[in-house]
Amino acid sequence: MIETFTYEGLPIRVRFGRGTLAEAGVEVARLGARRALVLTTPQQAALGERIGGLLGTAFGGQFAGAVMHTPVEVTEQALAALHGAAADCVVAVGGGSTTGLGKALAQRTGVPQLVIPTTYAGSEMTPILGETAEGRKTTIRSLDVLPETVIYDVDLTVGLPPTQSATSGLNAIAHAAEALYAKDRNPVISLMAEQAIRMLSSALPVLMHEPSDTEARMQALYGAWLSGCCLGAVGMALHHKLCHTLGGSFDLPHAETHAIILPHAIAYNAPAEPEAMAVIARSLGTPNAARGIYDLAYRLKVPTALSDIGMLESGIETAVSLAIENPYWNPRPITREGVRALLRQAWEGLPPQQPTI
Ligand code: NAD
Repeated sequence: MIETFTYEGLPIRVRFGRGTLAEAGVEVARLGARRALVLTTPQQAALGERIGGLLGTAFGGQFAGAVMHTPVEVTEQALAALHGAAADCVVAVGGGSTTGLGKALAQRTGVPQLVIPTTYAGSEMTPILGETAEGRKTTIRSLDVLPETVIYDVDLTVGLPPTQSATSGLNAIAHAAEALYAKDRNPVISLMAEQAIRMLSSALPVLMHEPSDTEARMQALYGAWLSGCCLGAVGMALHHKLCHTLGGSFDLPHAETHAIILPHAIAYNAPAEPEAMAVIARSLGTPNAARGIYDLAYRLKVPTALSDIGMLESGIETAVSLAIENPYWNPRPITREGVRALLRQAWEGLPPQQPTI
């Protein structure tokens, strides 16, 4: 049934395909820019140099210091590099950490961004910036940080190791799954979400064994793009809140945390959202949404317990308190007991249990 809804399209230009990286120079020119600062993590510095070569005279320099959670000290260093290079745009090449740095620079200076993603995190499609200062991560939502152009080149994802492909892909599935029961859900984004889950859940098991399977890489990246659109367009709920809390307060790795929490958060919300659950299950090709996600993660051999990724049992109670301290929207009311039970299941890595209330 179609109900009253609001749909707001975000103004982003997207090029998707194979070999599209070659168009980086043309896209920089299209932004009206003359000199680009290329951003990468230290691990992807060589890729940044390669892209610098492709940009020719528009290459203004490289800053290869992006790290996770966008600490403001790193942004200050990148800002100095941007001014030092007299650059008038940024080209962010990498995962969500590098994209985050590009957004932080855009917010401070207004420079346009060309983002070239190499993971499935989806940050490139969102007007959201998370930054860390003095150990606290805060998030803003503003069109000022929305990238102008995104080049998806499947060839750049072929080197993403199988385990990282799996956790990053599950991170993407989380955006799509929560979009299906978002407070501001709409039928267009729900279509994207369903297709995203279908694409990712069929491609990820193939990539585990054949990381260079081009068709599966195409599907996974296409699914990740759709998931990023979902994250950018509608509000998220319990799952994203929990992952944000766990990542920020216990320094747990981003994609792995999403992969572990997702089946439990979906099980928590299942009684309140039977229609969304039916769509998730259908797109996974399984009878039950939460169990289907858990089984997918298990099959992909990613960590399924918070204890596997360094969270101490003593942290559960702190995490429960942090997760419920600021009220936020969720389709099922959030209770201390409910969140505690969810986190305990996730800490132990047990299959998700659907509440009966
Ligand atoms: P990441 O960007 O931290 O990348 C992890 C590591 O993998 C890095 O060392 C990176 O250089 C390397 N890497 C990336 N692509 C590779 C490839 N193809 N081959 C080999 N190595 C590669 O990880 P991520 O999960 O993409 O991003 C996580 C960060 O993004 C978090 O800080 C998270 O909060 C943020 N994020 C933000 C949004 C948003 O909308 N603001 C959305 C999703 C994630």
